[in-house]
Amino acid sequence: MGQIIAITNQKGGVGKTTTAVNLSAWLSILGCKVMLVDIDPQGNATSGIGVDKDSLKYSIYDLLLGNAEIEDIKKKNILERLDLIPSSIELAGAEIEMVGIKDREFLLKNILDIEISKYDYIIIDCPPSLGLLTINALVAANSIIVPLQCEYYALEGLGQLMNTIKLVQQSINRNLIIKGVVLTMFDGRTNLSIQVVDEVKKFFKDKVYRSIIPRNVRLSEAPSHGKPVMLYDKRSKGSELYRELACEVMGGE
Ligand code: ADP
Ligand code: MG
Repeated sequence: MGQIIAITNQKGGVGKTTTAVNLSAWLSILGCKVMLVDIDPQGNATSGIGVDKDSLKYSIYDLLLGNAEIEDIKKKNILERLDLIPSSIELAGAEIEMVGIKDREFLLKNILDIEISKYDYIIIDCPPSLGLLTINALVAANSIIVPLQCEYYALEGLGQLMNTIKLVQQSINRNLIIKGVVLTMFDGRTNLSIQVVDEVKKFFKDKVYRSIIPRNVRLSEAPSHGKPVMLYDKRSKGSELYRELACEVMGGE
């Protein structure tokens, strides 16, 4: 049985989407069957993997609200063994529209519970909030990977995230676990980055992945070419470290 992993942190700009895209791509290249699910209205994972979010007929919005079937929405074989459920800006209004729906926290779970038999991994790229879309991801997921940016406020706001995770565990998804914490945008030349790594390791102990993602210009350039980094510059540090992270994620079972 495959695993559903939510990439979550309610802060924006910490590397959720970069991690979701590049982890999904590497897992598929390493032989796993993967589906990337974009539930951020900004649709950065969708465009970052090369799908034009403005010309979609349907998106995850239609799936959550029951307007279309998954087979109409899914983009198959974006890469070999990698499928995508794309997002679009319409999703921005979905949290409000979902409020009136019965079992609104379960909309994504009900869909992914059927899909997971076809995949080794389903990776969900969450929006930068703890609203209903993120709750849907936490309810659907078996585990969470939390990206933390190596900067001064890295741990700020984590209390809120931990509380939300606890609430979901206590009420709906007892088996939800934090699978790991990935440090991103590490700059080995600064003391600050090094201090943040120490601090995060004290807090999360062995949950912190050994693969620390460096600040790497290739990682920030690749999305504008609609490519995961290994197809843009395979030999870059960013590509190499996301490969190592994918190996850790696969090995940690
Ligand atoms: P989030 O999804 O958490 O908002 P993103 O993955 O979109 O964060 O990253 C925010 C910005 O930082 C993007 O422009 C992205 O290209 C860039 N970025 C992410 N990770 C790195 C990195 N390791 N090195 C350099 N730039 C990065
Ligand atoms: Mg994002």
